Amino acid sequence: MELKNKRVLVVGLGKSGIAAAMFLRQQGARVTVSDARSAVALANEIPALLDAGIMVESGGHGLLTFRRQDLIVISPGVPLDTPEVKQVIGYGMPVIGEIELASRFLKGRILAITGSNGKTTTTTLVGRILAEGGRETLVGGNIGTPLIELVSKSTDETVSVLEISSFQLETIEQFRPWIAVVLNITPDHLDRHGNFENYAAMKARITEQQRAEDFLVLNAEDKPTQMVAAKTKAQIFWFSSRRPIKQGAFVHGESIVFVPREGAKAEPVMPVAEISLKGAHNVENVLAAVCAARLAGVPAETIRRSVAGFKAVEHRLEFVSTVQGVEYFNDSKATNVDAAMKAIEAFPGRIHLILGGKDKDSDYTLLGPLLRQRVKAVYTIGSAAEKIERELHGVVKMVGAGTMDVAIREAQKAAVPGDVVLLAPACSSFDQFENYEHRGRTFRKLVHELS
Ligand code: ADP
Repeated sequence: MELKNKRVLVVGLGKSGIAAAMFLRQQGARVTVSDARSAVALANEIPALLDAGIMVESGGHGLLTFRRQDLIVISPGVPLDTPEVKQVIGYGMPVIGEIELASRFLKGRILAITGSNGKTTTTTLVGRILAEGGRETLVGGNIGTPLIELVSKSTDETVSVLEISSFQLETIEQFRPWIAVVLNITPDHLDRHGNFENYAAMKARITEQQRAEDFLVLNAEDKPTQMVAAKTKAQIFWFSSRRPIKQGAFVHGESIVFVPREGAKAEPVMPVAEISLKGAHNVENVLAAVCAARLAGVPAETIRRSVAGFKAVEHRLEFVSTVQGVEYFNDSKATNVDAAMKAIEAFPGRIHLILGGKDKDSDYTLLGPLLRQRVKAVYTIGSAAEKIERELHGVVKMVGAGTMDVAIREAQKAAVPGDVVLLAPACSSFDQFENYEHRGRTFRKLVHELS
């Protein structure tokens, strides 16, 4: 792909948008960036862009800015049905995302992980296993470093382990993973993707360009991922925590085993008890990681060692502290109903649950049965509180806390030794916090102040 002297517009100045603009400039393109935020809001970003010789349009998008380009690179935060974007797509202008742009320049091979929940945990774990297995490994994408920044570090020997979101899959064309993993597909981001079918179809795009020599790792217990199986040309490896699998990884008695091809003998990998991550959902993440790492050629013994030494990623069922016999866990990253359910299921009961934040058109009634079994009380926070209280009325005790500090104080008052206070909010954080990390840090800080 020749970029020299090409006119390229980057829409959306998030982390990946800025990285893409800088990369394009280094390649000699004539780069403009456009963001709906005001120049004041972008005051931290603008100087470096101008210094690099990049033109900046802030406070909205001008149609003319869009029309004068050879290529448009659109950020995952910007919907494709933004009027200006829709119009230039209508004219046949190429519109791609940063992942697509980067993958055209990236050397080596791609191991891409998507799903509604568990992406960061599994991506971090796979990256660790591959590195410990002696592979030249880079980790990034939707976590940490944008893919475009990995390009200059990649060689023909590199395996780039990438977390990929459904938004990023919206704007791929030739992106082709050597190994693709779809962990699960459960309702999330329906506010943006419209309906579940669209959302699932978007996840399935991860395998669109795969060929017969590539691998696709899928969850045998997750119905919607079977739709992905129907669309692939790659070799499918399944994983299951419940039943034997012909080709892939599963739990056999107390151990995880891997079957490298149909009819082959199952190789022992590790005892389930050696996994240090909490919860049944993390067994699924480990099974997916085992498949991916074995396919990448890492020996079972190395996988066992890495998995056993792997602690929870921050804000993912992270243990914070024990205060007066009550354990506090931070699962701020549980930003949808399914993730919150998985977090609740990781404890046998006696939970004080902090729920709420910004609603994503979610159905909280799904939480009802689990709340009845395991949760003593729910403490609601944020703008979704009223909806949660309405949908879960009469299920368990509800405390309208409003804010995180009130929720923690109320939970502390009610909890007795042996109970668990769990932040697994089932909502995004943007009504009261900058992001889920800020929410998780706030929770941690307030908990430490209790002790
Ligand atoms: P993602 O990057 O997809 O958001 P994370 O690894 O950050 O995934 O985990 C997000 C939250 O989802 C965790 O806090 C946990 O509650 C839940 N979770 C993790 N793995 C799974 C899984 N395999 N299935 C369902 N929920 C999960």
